[in-house]
Amino acid sequence: MDELRIAKEDFSEFLNGLKDCYRLYGPVQQGDMVNFLPIQDAAELDLSFKNTVLSPKSLFLPQSERLFEYSLAPDRDDAHILKEAPRDDSPRAVIGIRPCDARALELVDVNFDTDKLRDPWWVKAREATTLVGLGCTSPCSTCFCTSVGGGPFDEAGLDVLLTDVGEVFLAKVLTDKGENLLKTGKAFETAEKELVDRAVTIQQEAATKIVSRVDTSRLAELDTLRLFEADFWERLHFSCINCGVCTYLCPTCWCFDIQDETHGLAGVRIRNWDSCMFPLFTLHASGHNPRGEKIQRVRQRFMHKLKYYVDKYENGVACVGCGRCVQHCPVNIDIRQVFQLMNEYKS
Ligand code: SF4
Ligand code: SF4
Repeated sequence: MDELRIAKEDFSEFLNGLKDCYRLYGPVQQGDMVNFLPIQDAAELDLSFKNTVLSPKSLFLPQSERLFEYSLAPDRDDAHILKEAPRDDSPRAVIGIRPCDARALELVDVNFDTDKLRDPWWVKAREATTLVGLGCTSPCSTCFCTSVGGGPFDEAGLDVLLTDVGEVFLAKVLTDKGENLLKTGKAFETAEKELVDRAVTIQQEAATKIVSRVDTSRLAELDTLRLFEADFWERLHFSCINCGVCTYLCPTCWCFDIQDETHGLAGVRIRNWDSCMFPLFTLHASGHNPRGEKIQRVRQRFMHKLKYYVDKYENGVACVGCGRCVQHCPVNIDIRQVFQLMNEYKS
């Protein structure tokens, strides 16, 4: 695949030139946070961010998404008939997505885009999107991507990978989508060997900056039921307040609920993020709740990510090591410690 030289002074002009063909999204300062938002001008981008607070999963699985609309008006021929809600699936590009977040989309694909089941909203959003990744040169102390199959310059899920080499970006083209995007507008020169070598050095140095590690080596072989009954869940769950922050920030959490809302005679069916940390998530109409206790919900979150997903998909753990849940849990529950408890468990 091609490796191109993009002078930073040309990058903004290039992005602004894409606007006729792509809707653009990228990291934007929002108060004291940086999050992925639509942009009208490349000047809005903040490419110096360490990690966004919210992952960009909301671009593919919005926190609240209108799926269908319907009318309850008795005099209408189409009363009670569900119609797909209007949506924009024209091409778009996400600029500056981190490799861990792009990899997370591939981990979620195994649930939403399979031979047996395709979630059309997820699939259309994925197909419409070109991902231009920006490798991490200054990872956070809570990042552990290298222990869970990724890395600060991992290419999984990306269409283009940018390496910041001072005054220029080295752009590695990874897919046809990426090639088409880079062919739109300005023509870039092939990178010279000296630039490629400098980028490789930067990438290798970045990997050594990931100092946080987890061990996943025994997770697949552990007996599921024995792990389920392990005594450490009793200690682990105690301080959790079931706020759901960890699941909302996580790029690989995909739980949702579907509700109908009506205003007068107009109705809409909406999909909203939900969380295994919330007691209502599993409450049955009968009143029975199979995960009515906090310990059951905390266990579910970690068993799903580190055991059920591992066994069901044989695709590693459902965690890309972004460290968001470590940074933002209000009671300091740290998934790295849970990795250790689970991986070292001896029944
Ligand atoms: S962020 Fe922490 S306290 Fe909140 S639900 Fe997750 S583990 Fe529990
Ligand atoms: S579980 Fe935590 S560290 Fe792992 S991907 Fe989710 S938010 Fe990131």
